Amino acid sequence: MATFPTPVDLVVVGGGINGTGIARDAAGRGLKVLLCEQHDLAQHTSSASSKLVHGGLRYLEQYEFRLVRESLAEREVLLRAAPHIVHPMRFVMPHVPQLRPAWMIRMGLFLYDYLARRDTLPESDSIDLRAAPYHDGLKPGLSKGFIYSDCWVDDARLVIANARAAADLGATVLTRTACVSARSEGALWRVTLQPENAAPLEMSSRALVNVAGPWAKQFLNENINLDTPFGLKLVKGSHIIVPRLYAGKHAFILQNDDRRVVFVYPYEEHYTLIGTTDVEHTGDPGEYSVSEEEIDYLWRRKPLFRPYSHAGRRGLALLRHSPVVR
Ligand SMILES: Cc1cc2nc3c(=O)[nH]c(=O)nc-3n(C[C@H](O)[C@H](O)[C@H](O)COP(=O)(O)OP(=O)(O)OC[C@H]3O[C@@H](n4cnc5c(N)ncnc54)[C@H](O)[C@@H]3O)c2cc1C
Repeated sequence: MATFPTPVDLVVVGGGINGTGIARDAAGRGLKVLLCEQHDLAQHTSSASSKLVHGGLRYLEQYEFRLVRESLAEREVLLRAAPHIVHPMRFVMPHVPQLRPAWMIRMGLFLYDYLARRDTLPESDSIDLRAAPYHDGLKPGLSKGFIYSDCWVDDARLVIANARAAADLGATVLTRTACVSARSEGALWRVTLQPENAAPLEMSSRALVNVAGPWAKQFLNENINLDTPFGLKLVKGSHIIVPRLYAGKHAFILQNDDRRVVFVYPYEEHYTLIGTTDVEHTGDPGEYSVSEEEIDYLWRRKPLFRPYSHAGRRGLALLRHSPVVR
């Protein structure tokens, strides 16, 4: 059985965006870090997200001003740190007066523009949906809309970039290596790692971070034998991909009578992505699939768009979907 000779300062369990971000930050502060990922980096939630770097416009309705301000500030940080994979995107919101009055949307967008420092992204505005360039694909009858800025990111690459930077700063990054147990002994954690095709590794660490995503509670209960009064609710989101519904690089954000928002944006060259749903997931975190109800829900958001030549219901392709901890 192989062993690590010295204790490390930090073991990070999980190679998603949280794990790799923590590993990078800790290694940058001079800590000796080991990250283990049971499968591949970004194999789960962190490559199946909606890929938006956003401040959370809809949280303003819940008076979460601090959360939105902090997220907007982080959006600027990411734009500066990774401009090769974080791209500005304009979001068009058709106005539906029965759902939210125009003054409320204008006020929300004003706050969204000015709650945090914004260096390069253009501010929000009112637009005419009957005119180019935003009329394309939309059904006649929609005239007024609003436009604001957020960003799109290649989520899996962001994880890899963080893992790479952590390794460059001295962290050990082990993929296909599960943390199968950890027990606290004095000031140290005794940790057992199980590589996919090799003997177990025993090591010790001064601290351990559980960033196992949807497996976080399972890891706590079954691998470290710790109990917690806090439960975890797993929520699954799904996206659907249809043949391209409109020209242009902008996204649409659609308000719905159930108060949820659904966005629509160009995906690869020839497709449009519509997402996302939000339903509770029970059972194994690693086993999930999109339900017919979720496909129907997303498909019903389409009526704002003109029927597209071959965008039939049968032509749906499903993007990956994944449970996430909320
Ligand atoms: C549908 C959907 C849309 C989303 N859209 C957005 C969005 O637009 N913008 C945004 O910012 N966020 C979005 N999110 C949220 C975001 O994706 C998650 O918050 C984030 O990916 C969580 O990352 P994580 O590292 O915590 O988890 P994960 O990416 O799931 O990583 C956890 C890792 O831990 C590993 N692991 C588990 N157990 C062990 C073990 N015992 N040993 C070793 N490794 C283990 C797993 O294999 C996994 O790779 C979305 C989420 C979903 C589901």
